[in-house]
Amino acid sequence: MPTAIYPGSFDPLTNGHLDVIERAAKLFDRVIVAVAKSESKQPLFTLEERLKMVERAVRGLRNVEADAFEGLLVEYAARRRAQVVVRGLRAVSDFEFEFQLALMNRKLNHQVETIFMMPKDAYTFLSSRIVKEIARLGGNVSAFVPRHVEAALRRKFASQPA
Ligand code: ADP
Repeated sequence: MPTAIYPGSFDPLTNGHLDVIERAAKLFDRVIVAVAKSESKQPLFTLEERLKMVERAVRGLRNVEADAFEGLLVEYAARRRAQVVVRGLRAVSDFEFEFQLALMNRKLNHQVETIFMMPKDAYTFLSSRIVKEIARLGGNVSAFVPRHVEAALRRKFASQPA
């Protein structure tokens, strides 16, 4: 079975991302969770912070590793000898962008295949953006992210003006 890459900003990692990672880990020999630098998105957490959060979350999964990358995903995939890119689909609203991205990646490298995975229905409303917004306003995000991510959010917003 091929190696799969699950790329994203993971700013921060949520239980929805983890659900996709666990599903992919059952299908592929090796899953690389690839944290994108995503500079243009002005992430809340640094690349190093995001990578550390992912590393800690996947520690218990034997065939999953975390890595960081910048630049073109298809080039990174070729370097890592990965044939599959995994993306999560939550709702119709994700479809248009994901469809465009997958077809563009295929144009850039036709050997890389994109597959979509749907999370457990309870996570279909979950996004890093919403989690950040709730945490920024002092709300409880414990149902949406792993414990260490919750703590990191608390630390981040305690050191930032509201
Ligand atoms: P990006 O900046 O690349 O969109 P994200 O970290 O927001 O990175 O998401 C990475 C991937 O995970 C995307 O394919 C996104 O659709 C998917 N994803 C995000 N949240 C969820 C969720 N709750 N359930 C399933 N997939 C998700």
